[in-house]
Amino acid sequence: MALTETELLATHSEEPDYSFCADSYDFDTLALHAGTPPDPTTGAMLTPIYQTTTYRQEAVGQDKGFTYSRSGNPTVSALERRLAALEGAKFCTCYATGLAATTALCLALLRAGDRVVCSQAVYGGTVRLFRQVLAPFGVQAEFVDTSDEETFAAALRKPTRFVFIETPANPTLRLTDIRLAAHLSLEAGALLVVDNTLLTPALQRPFDFGADIVLHSTTKFIEGHNATVGGALITRDAELQEKLAFTRNAIGAIQSPFPAWLTLQGVKTLPLRMARHSENALRIARFLMAHDRVTKVIYPGLESFPQFELVQRQQTSGGALVAFEVRGGVEAGIRLMNSVRLCALAENLGAAETIITHPASMTHADVPRAQREAAGITDGLVRLSVGLENPLDLIGDLVHALGC
Ligand code: PLP
Repeated sequence: MALTETELLATHSEEPDYSFCADSYDFDTLALHAGTPPDPTTGAMLTPIYQTTTYRQEAVGQDKGFTYSRSGNPTVSALERRLAALEGAKFCTCYATGLAATTALCLALLRAGDRVVCSQAVYGGTVRLFRQVLAPFGVQAEFVDTSDEETFAAALRKPTRFVFIETPANPTLRLTDIRLAAHLSLEAGALLVVDNTLLTPALQRPFDFGADIVLHSTTKFIEGHNATVGGALITRDAELQEKLAFTRNAIGAIQSPFPAWLTLQGVKTLPLRMARHSENALRIARFLMAHDRVTKVIYPGLESFPQFELVQRQQTSGGALVAFEVRGGVEAGIRLMNSVRLCALAENLGAAETIITHPASMTHADVPRAQREAAGITDGLVRLSVGLENPLDLIGDLVHALGC
C-alpha cells in the first residue's frame, strides 16, 4: 500500500511516528525506506546531513522539534526511526558508540546498590564497563552462564534491576534463550536488555520474544562498512525511552550527524548482507570442519552446534561469526592469524571485509582470565567475522594460512 505524502511527512513532525510504515511493508523495504521521507523542502531522496549545532527558534518556547544537537538532530532522528522500525519497536536513541549506549543504559536505570545479571560471555568492553567503571559507583554485576536455565534462575533470586544478555555471545557464540530470559526477568521484576549486535534484526528479533530494550553497536553489521562507530538503544516503552533520551542529553553521548547519515546508507543493504554473511560463514565453517589442522569449530548454522534446536527457534540463520581452534594450540593459532593475506587481522567484526581476531589478546584482553576460561574463551580461540568476499577466495586464504 503506497503512503500518501502527508503520511510520509508525518515523520518530520515534532512527535515522529517511529513505526513509520512498519505495518505495511516487509523488512527489506523498511531497511530502505523506514523513517526517511523525501526532504520536505527540496525533495532530496536522502535525508540531508544536518550539520548544525543549533536551530533558530521562531519565538521564545517555539521551535520545530529541535533545539540543540546534543539533545536531538534530524539526521540522527531519521536513523532512530529506521532502526526502531527494523526491530519492530517504537523508539530509539542513537549514541556515539555501542559502549556509549551501554553506559547511557546503565546511568539511566541503575543507582548505587543495584545489581545486574549479565551473560558470562559478552563483549569484553561490556565486562570492563561493569567491573572497572561502574563497580566503584556501587553497582554490582554478576556474570553468569545465562545459557543454563538453573544457573540463570538461581542468579535471579536476589533483587536485580536488569538482565543483560548477548546472544549469540561474542566470541563463544553460546546462545541464551531470549523467551526464557524474558520469562525469568519478568518473574524477578527485572528488565531484559538484549545486545542484538551480532545478528541484527535481519536474523533475530528480540522484542518478539519479550525483550524490553535492544542494544546495538551499529559499528558492526548495522552500518556494515567499517566506516563509523555508533550505538543504539531501542524500546517499545515510552517511559523507558524518556529516561534514555534524558540521560543521553544529560551525559552528552549522542551520535554525530555524519556517522548517522553513513549508517542510514549502510543499513539499506542489511538484509542482503546478512544473508550473504551467513551463506559464506556456513561454507567456511564446513571447510574448517573438514580440515585436519582444525580441532574445533563453533558455528550456530552447523547441525553439530550444541544449541542447534534453539538456533532454529530464535534465529533465521547462523550469522557471520565462526570461532575455531587449530591443532598446536595458541602458537599455531597465532601463526595462522599472522599468515592470512585476504582476511584482515583487526579488532572489529560485522564489516563487508572478513576480519580475523584473537579474542584473548584483543577484544577480551581486559576480561579476567578466570572469567574468560569459564566462558570458554580459550587462548587458542580464533574468531572470524566472515565478510562478503567470494567464499572460494576466503577458503584459499585459510588453506594457505593453515599450512604455514
Ligand atoms: N556489543 C558487542 C556485541 C560488541 O561486539 C561491541 C564491540 O565490539 C560492543 C557492544 C561495543 O560497541 P562499540 O565498539 O561500538 O563501542
